[in-house]
Amino acid sequence: MRKLLIKNVKVIATMDDKKTRIEHGAIYIEDNVIKDVGPTLDLEKKYLRTPNSELRTINATNKVALPGLINTHHHFYQTLNRNIPIVQDAQLFDWIRILYEIWREITPEGVYSTAQVGMGELLLTGCTTTVDQFYIFPKDKPGDLIDYEIKAAQEIGIRFHPCRGSMSLGRSKGGLPPDDLIQDEEEILKDSERLINKYHDPEKYSMLRIALAPCSPFSVTGELLKETIRFARERKVRCHTHIAETRDEEGYCLKTHKMRPLAYMESQGFLGPDVWFAHGVHLNDEEIRLLSQTKTGIAHCPTSNLRLGSGIAPVRRMLDAGVRVGLAVDGSASNDSSDMLGELRQCLLIHRIKSGIESMPIDDVLWMATRGGAEILGRDDIGSIEVGKAADITLIDTKKIGYAGGMHDPVGAILFSGDSHIVDTTIVNGRILVQGGRLLNLDEEEVIEKANEIASEMLKRASKRTGVDYLRKEEMDR
Ligand SMILES: [Zn+2]
Repeated sequence: MRKLLIKNVKVIATMDDKKTRIEHGAIYIEDNVIKDVGPTLDLEKKYLRTPNSELRTINATNKVALPGLINTHHHFYQTLNRNIPIVQDAQLFDWIRILYEIWREITPEGVYSTAQVGMGELLLTGCTTTVDQFYIFPKDKPGDLIDYEIKAAQEIGIRFHPCRGSMSLGRSKGGLPPDDLIQDEEEILKDSERLINKYHDPEKYSMLRIALAPCSPFSVTGELLKETIRFARERKVRCHTHIAETRDEEGYCLKTHKMRPLAYMESQGFLGPDVWFAHGVHLNDEEIRLLSQTKTGIAHCPTSNLRLGSGIAPVRRMLDAGVRVGLAVDGSASNDSSDMLGELRQCLLIHRIKSGIESMPIDDVLWMATRGGAEILGRDDIGSIEVGKAADITLIDTKKIGYAGGMHDPVGAILFSGDSHIVDTTIVNGRILVQGGRLLNLDEEEVIEKANEIASEMLKRASKRTGVDYLRKEEMDR
């Protein structure tokens, strides 16, 4: 049995129901489960009284402990398309129209590399559980691309909720994606079944759960939404999609379906406690009430919404109405970063503009990033530092110049201050994956080099095929 005692923690923000904070605290872990939490003096007496060669200790002096952060929406494959000049200033529909042409160049090697980048950055910024929605299945590529990100997650050791994404409504039928990037309903459901059978683990402390995720109202058919939710409920897995992200999407739904996006989802039966949506930027009070009544979750992606100029989601109103809300970095092509701790800071700040300075206190941000995320993923075994929870913990070193002078409230300092979001230590399921701000299971330099090489090759291939120079913003209008 592996035994680990983390002691002398400056403050543990447990995120239990009372949001208890423990100063000079300690956490005792056996294998993958938290067995004890309390003051260091008490836990030292219990576990260090007799010499114990099996027990490993971490001295966390000056460090704040948070429950491992939970990222509830992402598209790892987009880390290869960060910051492409042609779409630096584009809104969602233009952005996506251009990027489809680059995304279709994805390869198994690319999916694997991009997952390493995304997961590595998430672990380094305090995230221990992540979702990823993968929905690019070009007709001329192997059908099991998503398996390569699962392989990467299993090797790295992050807790993973891969979403089998899908697109079934091509341009010729009024959708946004090119026809050769879509699949038919039967093929999608067959592959969904394969993935559930092969990988889904519904047990407590599960490291991998599959969800099914039609991409968006403008890229899937109503039949696919209906069939997906029916099949997911039969197999007891969750469902996910994008909703109410931009005014363009709202206009599309009003024109095509004669309904607003959420009403359209409701008409297809795609709502409920086993469903969570990314974004929810453009929702009115009635729609927020509907989300609350149906216990449907929202993955709030503040940076992505700012990056694409989509708007600021009405999160204060959602929380007040009792909507389940988690936090997310979203695809890196819209966020251009997978900085999870940075996303907390972004969330803390933007709602002060949207709904007033008092509308987003630290505790609400931390709650969404931990317990809120756990809830919308249907998990009661992660999201807090409590006895019986999975040992998913991140330690942040406050002895850094960016926090100096801010130790009146060390937990608050993590969000309000700091000049880097790289954490000191990240532990997932009892295993140390980040130590001293470095990834233990990945060669960072090798990963960076490979990702840059693949990203540039993808762009070159796309450019050769389309004749568009993606490095020039002026090409946007072509
Ligand atoms: Zn997304």
